[in-house]
Amino acid sequence: MSFKDASRILLNEDQMPKQWLNIVADMPEKLDPYINPATKKPATKEDFYPIFAKDLVDQEFSQEPFIDIPEEILDIYKMYRPSPLIRAKNLEKALGTPAKIYFKHEGLNTSGSHKLNSAVPQVYYNKMQGIKNLTTETGAGQWGTALAVAAAFYDMPLSVYMVKISAEQKPYRKAIMETFGAKVIKSPSDTTKAGRKILSEDPECPGSLGCAISEAVEVALNTPDTRYVLGSVLNQVVLHQSIIGLEAKKQMEIAGLYPDIVIGCAGGGSNLGGIMSAFMKDKLNKKANPYFIAAEPSACPSLTRGKYAYDFCDMSNITPLAKMYTLGSTFLPSAIHSGGLRYHGMSPILSKLYHDGYLDEARALSQRSVFEAAQLFAKHETILPAPESAHAIKTAIDEALKCKESGEAKVILFNLTGHGNFDMGAYMKYIENNIVDYSPSDEELQKGFDLLPDIS
Ligand SMILES: *Cc1c(COP(=O)(O)O)cnc(C)c1O
Repeated sequence: MSFKDASRILLNEDQMPKQWLNIVADMPEKLDPYINPATKKPATKEDFYPIFAKDLVDQEFSQEPFIDIPEEILDIYKMYRPSPLIRAKNLEKALGTPAKIYFKHEGLNTSGSHKLNSAVPQVYYNKMQGIKNLTTETGAGQWGTALAVAAAFYDMPLSVYMVKISAEQKPYRKAIMETFGAKVIKSPSDTTKAGRKILSEDPECPGSLGCAISEAVEVALNTPDTRYVLGSVLNQVVLHQSIIGLEAKKQMEIAGLYPDIVIGCAGGGSNLGGIMSAFMKDKLNKKANPYFIAAEPSACPSLTRGKYAYDFCDMSNITPLAKMYTLGSTFLPSAIHSGGLRYHGMSPILSKLYHDGYLDEARALSQRSVFEAAQLFAKHETILPAPESAHAIKTAIDEALKCKESGEAKVILFNLTGHGNFDMGAYMKYIENNIVDYSPSDEELQKGFDLLPDIS
């Protein structure tokens, strides 16, 4: 059997990329700057230093095409990377498509998702700076888990503000974080001003991501040697995730192939930015012309129905303003099962690439269709995907079925961001036929747009 026919394409440790790819350097137009909401002027690095570690702020503003991955980070990456590139041959057969479907499997670490790729460097740079505590929030729990794993490795104390209702619905997620030594605080809590205010108004408040972010940021700002870390959206996170696409390109080369279509699910945009990275660089430099698709939930359609405008990255309006596709920081998406895709905005990098036509298409998908795709994939490929990842699977299947009609043998690449082993509550609902499809009305969306900040 030649490499061309292999189902799993593996790289050796020494073939793992030693630099991250910063796509910003190749973008024909510069990103719109972050804006300081107090002065309404472009935010400076100094504006970010109280919140984020200095090296991470430098990465946030970097225009360098490549950034070296420190040896200490490579050592940890090597514990679970390079991740395999897998050809979904059985799924292809079941669909009867001439297309070749490949996926990058990012769910093969204990934290269960691609988020560990950014959690590791974020903890590392904070540790190097002498930071003594980290805070963060988690909704569905994947980010908190990834960060707990990375924090344990570097012996860094970590407080995770976990949306109260999620902590109660997903006790196993909470238990993993605690096993790795993180302190999990149900939000709203009485440990912060923001939390106490909400509790005094509503002692039974189930919590929200916005409230959890406010608590985590408040603690970071008011505790010496403490910083906040964020698992998506930011340029630095897209940078760290570029390792996915860099590896995928090498693996595709081994197979003698180049993808015609590259697909990722889109919450804050980090995994899609990651799998696109090396291929987008080719596209921006006119070396190749792959077609990029973002798959988002119709319940939280930031690219397909959002506005390209300046908005806050958090719901409590503490962070600098970013130019991005947004539903408004006050938009509260319905409680869909793809918790990782419930974010009102989209990475400024991906937003700009979409606005300028390089990220070719965004598709909004209903929950039920996504779970159907997840089940089909699980049966044929023996992997139970995270509901978030299943958005990319559904899109890959639809593209493969188009190939069946046209007879084209396209090469389709998608990112399998995580496993679904902690999402059994969601799968149970699907099996019981209890999954509800939802998309917000134009009127509901308008409420979010009406409250966008005015920066003119
Ligand atoms: C967080 C998460 C996502 C979405 O985040 P992005 O920043 O858009 O990549 C997708 N899949 C899984 C499994 C996640 O945990």
